[in-house]
Amino acid sequence: MNSYTGVWRSGSHRHYLWANVSWSRFRSKWRENSRHSLRLVDMNVHLVGNSVRYTGVWEHGTGAHYLWVNASWSSFRAKWRELAQRQLRLTVLKVLTINGRRRYFGVWRPGRDAYYLWVGADWANFRAKWREQSARSMRLVDLEVYPTSRGLRYAGVWRRGMGSHYLWVGASWSSFVSKWRDLAARGLRLTVVKSYLRRGRRRYAGVWRPGRDGYYLWGNTRWQNFVSKWRELNGKNLRLVHLDVLNVRRVPTSPWVRLHIKILTAPTTFPVNTMVESMRRVYRAAGFEVDVASTETLNLPALDDLEIGTCTRGNTTAEQDTLFGNRNNVGANDIPVYFVRTTDRPTNGCAAHADGVPACVVASGATIWTLAHEVGHVLDLNHVNDNTRLMTGNGTFNIISPPLPVLSSSEINTMDNSPLTREL
Ligand SMILES: [Zn+2]
Repeated sequence: MNSYTGVWRSGSHRHYLWANVSWSRFRSKWRENSRHSLRLVDMNVHLVGNSVRYTGVWEHGTGAHYLWVNASWSSFRAKWRELAQRQLRLTVLKVLTINGRRRYFGVWRPGRDAYYLWVGADWANFRAKWREQSARSMRLVDLEVYPTSRGLRYAGVWRRGMGSHYLWVGASWSSFVSKWRDLAARGLRLTVVKSYLRRGRRRYAGVWRPGRDGYYLWGNTRWQNFVSKWRELNGKNLRLVHLDVLNVRRVPTSPWVRLHIKILTAPTTFPVNTMVESMRRVYRAAGFEVDVASTETLNLPALDDLEIGTCTRGNTTAEQDTLFGNRNNVGANDIPVYFVRTTDRPTNGCAAHADGVPACVVASGATIWTLAHEVGHVLDLNHVNDNTRLMTGNGTFNIISPPLPVLSSSEINTMDNSPLTREL
């Protein structure tokens, strides 16, 4: 299944979008569009089995252009040199591994300016190259991030350019969108977006250049959704300028956490479902979904008034260890939440657990935010001294709401990096 992400800028020119087709169909469309003064502004390639599927974004344009696809590096580089002599500049670069071989795909448009191409770099090397090129008034016009057996590799296409620019890689969707908003307010516009998988998680990279025009970002969505957004934005004089296609097993809307509710004694303050719904509101505002995969009643009277000791990270009592051994249905990265009558040092909840045994406890006198707070600890969040935040160390009964208790962007980042939040 494909997940589509697009970048729009102000525009009212003619345009065309053609997605997910074989090379022969793409080539005939490319020829037909050429005759109608349409030029590729972006192209995407992805694999379905071992066959390459093409997606193109065209806009009104005249003049020379060139398309060269599915080439080995040596043939691609030779073509790149030859076309440079003919006053054509690479504007789009894609890299795919097919049957263990790296293949290169490019689009060229007219130009007489300086140009640069750098492929197969690890991040440290690429960043150094980016800095070096920046100092030479070269700006990225396309960026590619692709997996290899030695980890992620980066490729960049540069052309002469001035003014501010920005490069941001390795971000989750929520942090990418928040960066996008910040930079838009500073007069920068996203020109390239690239998504890829890193350790099973979807990550985004972007390139920004100066701009004061209209802009839009719509991502992480299925084709039908994408096309209806495309139509809607066309009517608002916004034009797709960059498109990212990632083939994933299923299209995730958000990263998520999976809970298992284990009830020894149900809370007396709020029903469990109300606590779950409150947690969902806070987590959703931070970009996370909460999935309750199972609910079980446990008859364990000896553990219903649970000894929690100091309730500090990594320190558990024998009673906690015994309780947390009840893991029916609980997958490796799932979080069981045990609802008990009381804890022996009275608290509303406790998230101390042994390494590799994620779990937390909620007592029957819990507040409406206790569940969300304790799971926050399990996701590696620490206390803060701020009662507008979910992770206040002053007791969740002190949380000032409305509005919703806040998860900060650095907390969202920590949650993103927890193995217990998953995207695919
Ligand atoms: Zn706490």
